[in-house]
Parts: sequence; structure tokens; C-alpha cells
Amino acid sequence: MVDWSKSGMKKARAKSRDRSATCPVCGRRRNVDQQKKLRATEAIWFKREAAYYEAGSPFYPLVDGMRGLAISGQREWFWACDGCIRGRRALTANITKQVLGLGTPFAAYVDRPFRCSDCDTPSVFTASEQQHWYETLGFLIWVYPNQCAPCRAKRRRKRRANRALAEALAGLDTRDPTQLEAVARLYDEIGAAAKATVYRSRAKNRRALSK
Ligand SMILES: [Zn+2]
Ligand SMILES: [Zn+2]
Repeated sequence: MVDWSKSGMKKARAKSRDRSATCPVCGRRRNVDQQKKLRATEAIWFKREAAYYEAGSPFYPLVDGMRGLAISGQREWFWACDGCIRGRRALTANITKQVLGLGTPFAAYVDRPFRCSDCDTPSVFTASEQQHWYETLGFLIWVYPNQCAPCRAKRRRKRRANRALAEALAGLDTRDPTQLEAVARLYDEIGAAAKATVYRSRAKNRRALSK
């Protein structure tokens, strides 16, 4: 309901002029127009985006795109107030090293808590991990982890084991107990215990036969 009373209108006007947003690190209300790092990143982004689209296109960037997002509170985690960056509570980000796609760039990296989708443990996507992902490894800026670091390592090991298993099976000499044991170990690594047992007993039989 719109409050049409004089004081209600005054409040609404004040709210629409309110240029403050809550810093995701210190939790303080900050005037976004006074945040130098946010504005500098936004200016580079605007220049870059504006070069791609014609004025009037629905994709044409908003002049205060990043500040507008911060004010709306729709997305956190992509900025921090200048005080937090100076105080090293947030890492300063370099937009020129980020692969943007259609995402919003990072003006700063801040620790992002999340819950691992594999083991359900609370975890943190740290500011320095983000900097490494987005500025060194070249990951798209909207990519982020769903699993904690140990679960990611486990998934990587499993992927590697799957590939190694495919190779081992393709060139497998079923008379060679050493090869059969290697296959059993790889089945263990991908969590196929029943298969591992089968190959282990085949290896044992082969060893018995060769004696
Ligand atoms: Zn702050
Ligand atoms: Zn996990």
C-alpha cells in the first residue's frame, strides 16, 4: 500500500534518495557513491560493456550498475567498503583479469560461507581462493564451488581413477595378476567395492596358477 500522507511521501522520497548499502564484510551502512574501489570497477565495467551494445539495447549497462545492485541488496559478496579493503578484511579485485561473460564483476573478494552439497558441512569460499579462481585460473566469474575443499579433492581423485580405470580395462591382460590388482585398486577408489573384490580374487587365482 502506498502511503499518500505527507509524512509517508516524505519517507518514500528519502528512501529513493538513499544511496547506502550494507557492506557484506563489516555490516555497516555505506554511501555507495563514496566507495572509490566500487566506483572504479564499475566505471571500467561500464566502458567495456557499453562498447558491446548500442545505447537503447536492453543489455546496455546501467550507469550505476554495481552500485544499484549493492543498494538493492540482490547480490552481496561482489564488493566491500573502502575501509574494509584498506583494513584487509576484504581483498581488492582486478576486473581486468576477470572473465566476465554476462556476470557482474568483483570489486573486492570477501569470504563467502556456504554448505557443502556432498557432506553438508558448513564451509567458506575464501577471498583468496576467489582471487585465485577468477584472476589466475581464469574461471568465469559466476562459477563458484558447491563442495568443500576435501570433497572437491575426493571428486577429482574419483574422476582421475575413472579415467585410469578406463585405460587399464582397455589394455588389460587378464592373465597378469599385477594388472588385475591395479584394476581392483582403481575400482576401490571409485567406490565400486564389489567389482574390486572380483578383480582381487581373479588376481589371487592367477597367482596360484602361476606357482
Ligand atoms: Zn565494510
Ligand atoms: Zn564436503
